[in-house]
Amino acid sequence: MRFQLHRAHVVATPLLLGFLVLGKASAFEVVPQPAPPPPGYHLVEGDMYVPEGLEKGTVWEPNTWLGGVVPYVFVVNDATAAGSYTSTTLGFASNPPRILTSAGSDPFIDIGFRADQLVLVRGSASNDNTAATLYRIDWLTNDAIYLDPGDAVVNEGFGASVTLDVTVSVSPNYQAAMVAAMGEWEAVASVDFVPYSTEASYIRISNSVFNRATVGVVGAAGPGTVEIVNWGEKYVMCHELAHALAFKHEQSRADRDDFVTINYQNISTTDCGGSCVGNFEPSTTASIYPASPWGAVYDFDSVMHYGQYYFSIDRGNLTTIDCNPGYESWQDLIGQRTHLSFWDITTMSYAYAPGNWVFLHAQSPTPNPNGTFADPQTSFATAVQSVPSYGKLVILYPDTYAASTSGARLITTPMQIEAPTGGVILQ
Ligand SMILES: [Zn+2]
Repeated sequence: MRFQLHRAHVVATPLLLGFLVLGKASAFEVVPQPAPPPPGYHLVEGDMYVPEGLEKGTVWEPNTWLGGVVPYVFVVNDATAAGSYTSTTLGFASNPPRILTSAGSDPFIDIGFRADQLVLVRGSASNDNTAATLYRIDWLTNDAIYLDPGDAVVNEGFGASVTLDVTVSVSPNYQAAMVAAMGEWEAVASVDFVPYSTEASYIRISNSVFNRATVGVVGAAGPGTVEIVNWGEKYVMCHELAHALAFKHEQSRADRDDFVTINYQNISTTDCGGSCVGNFEPSTTASIYPASPWGAVYDFDSVMHYGQYYFSIDRGNLTTIDCNPGYESWQDLIGQRTHLSFWDITTMSYAYAPGNWVFLHAQSPTPNPNGTFADPQTSFATAVQSVPSYGKLVILYPDTYAASTSGARLITTPMQIEAPTGGVILQ
């Protein structure tokens, strides 16, 4: 299957990149302990788990979900640590239940804790807890983590070494936020996220200190994964869900050099366990990102596009991505995480289309009688005759198509015809 879904990106609030990219380990930082990817998968481009062994020229295309049905399960009641924070300046107070710093200066908010996270406390004395005790963070200040009012804590004085584990369990509020993000895609495409029961393929959604996802259906290797840290940012979650739905990064398209310029000299050489160049390199991504023969619009507005400072040696000053001449007005806008773009919506609606839509592309290298978005038909005559009455014909490629043959009209049933990029002539 050839697939040209290519939009998506790394999560990237400054905070996240702060420890995702910079990765400094200090006493006041959540030390991330990434969950292992599915067997046979590895991480590329910051947030995408893809099969290992991809070499330049290797053809690999992610699989979409059959019927658009995506079973999912939230990780709950799991004390596995996604990140840990150890300090000797912590103390506990019971009313209201909270964890304090003696100095009043521990920047809890800056080190990765979030409201609604479930944390496990491992103390040096009586307040050691087991996996059965997960505290929910109710709210935070700079010097205190207020726990759920219903949680009882065991007091422990300041000075003991206490470790707070951010767990992979997803709190009810986070679950609700994710379901809302799912709803964004469900509203614009024939996608249906359903609670997992016994399906062979599904995604496992966990709390994390990263935003990451497997790309497309994993299959026999096990469940796919969606890891989220920015539960408060709906469109960061939409980005990761789009990966799970088989979408990739827009700026990794094979034709991206026609639209953006990668400033290799500004890419960090240390923040990715070494150089981050691989996150931008065609040699890494060529096999993952197929050519774009559709004449499709390059979507600077995509929720799947990197921002201009991603993986920069000096974020805020030195750009890693510049929009080419003619497109400069997009420079400060790429990497947006505030909405789904027109083409995000359109492409998703095509990848997960209603059953009565037929796709046509005169230059499709992989024509298929089913005429799907990934494998469109090439013949107008064949395509138009396979559109059910009141269905839709989507013409993906600008061209002149013969709408009649030997004087007989080929369009004989009512249908909608759509040419998203324009330039289509029927004669
Ligand atoms: Zn991404």
